Amino acid sequence: MSVKAPITQDVVTIPRKLPEGLVNLVGLTRPAMREALLAIGTPEKQAKMRVGQIWQWIYQWGVRDFDAMTNLAKDYRAKLAEHFVIEIPEVVSRQVSNDGTRKYLVRIAGGHEVEVVYIPEEDRGTLCVSSQVGCTLTCSFCHTGTQKLVRNLTAGEIVGQVMMARDDLGEWPERGAPKDETRLLSNIVLMGMGEPLYNFENVRDAMKIAMDAEGIQLSRRRITLSTSGVVPEIARTAEEIGCQLAISFHATTDETRDILVPINKRWNIEELLQALKTYPKVSNSERITFEYVMLKGVNDTDEDAHRLIKLIKDNGIPAKINLIPFNEWPGAPYQRSSNNRIRAFADIIYKAGYASPIRTPRGEDIMAACGQLKSATERARKSRRQIEAEAGL
Ligand code: SAH
Ligand code: SF4
Repeated sequence: MSVKAPITQDVVTIPRKLPEGLVNLVGLTRPAMREALLAIGTPEKQAKMRVGQIWQWIYQWGVRDFDAMTNLAKDYRAKLAEHFVIEIPEVVSRQVSNDGTRKYLVRIAGGHEVEVVYIPEEDRGTLCVSSQVGCTLTCSFCHTGTQKLVRNLTAGEIVGQVMMARDDLGEWPERGAPKDETRLLSNIVLMGMGEPLYNFENVRDAMKIAMDAEGIQLSRRRITLSTSGVVPEIARTAEEIGCQLAISFHATTDETRDILVPINKRWNIEELLQALKTYPKVSNSERITFEYVMLKGVNDTDEDAHRLIKLIKDNGIPAKINLIPFNEWPGAPYQRSSNNRIRAFADIIYKAGYASPIRTPRGEDIMAACGQLKSATERARKSRRQIEAEAGL
């Protein structure tokens, strides 16, 4: 019998060290911001109102400069500037695909980099946000899983990606202008780099800020968290975030899922399905999305499709099955299933009464598609090492 390797989570969040003890207000929850304001001598009686005012400036109007907060007294603004900053990740590069997809490389504290992808569609615009630098899990088909370096992002660095994209899209509202209902950035998916449920608190706080009625105001129905199956955090996600849930399912037997999604060795298919049963009710969401990457000759037979349906049906989980054509990356050990195979698989699912959309790969020319994200510096570092090795240095 083989010994199950533990899946360790040796990740830490290192908050940004700012010069002279300055604190970044971005990413603080309302109670945390209140504490911060009290700590600089804001009178107790005013604290709630000040939080509301500053919150609106930051998250509704996109203001980064205390001096622009004109409903605050001048000396109070100066005091804020002495102690606080309003800081978001810095854009290092931006690539635009021929299909309009934008991929940003952003730099966070410590010089680490993560990727953020904006995907424009006819009726919506989706921002694919990262929750970690790299990922501790090692799903065998995922490029991010091959990146060694891992650290959790802070809540400010997560919601900061949304603010960065709004900057780039020019989407902060003008004061006094009529409310624009068609948003360029209308949806968030936590499907970038990292496993969001291994960074629960920061992801939760960031999404709460994105949903807050006095700021970015995205509905929880327009936020989707994708997890590889961190079972103990699923109930908490329903209770404390209440967003839409997507599961990286990808296989219909434990034998195959153990290889594709190794966290399955810790929490197997049965345990995962048990945890999913109560999600829609507790979170008041309609369906769970089952993500299924189509890998040629690995998980794409008719039998797999039938087994998948049976697993979902037997457990009575309201579901939609999102088929993802495998996106190749340099050195990937798998191939994409043929279009005919993907269509046949989708057909079986559809006939069983479940929606089975096939995800169109976006931004492939700039390596921005699902599972292709791995920071460019990490790639560059690797290739430089390779070059040196080849040159006999
Ligand atoms: N860690 C989370 C979220 C990030 S991955 C998770 O695993 O769910 C976002 C989605 O892309 C997941 O469904 C993941 O399985 C999928 N994915 C990863 N690599 C891929 C690849 N090379 N081609 C297609 N989809 C991939
Ligand atoms: Fe991590 Fe998700 Fe990639 Fe797996 S698929 S390695 S959990 S980012």
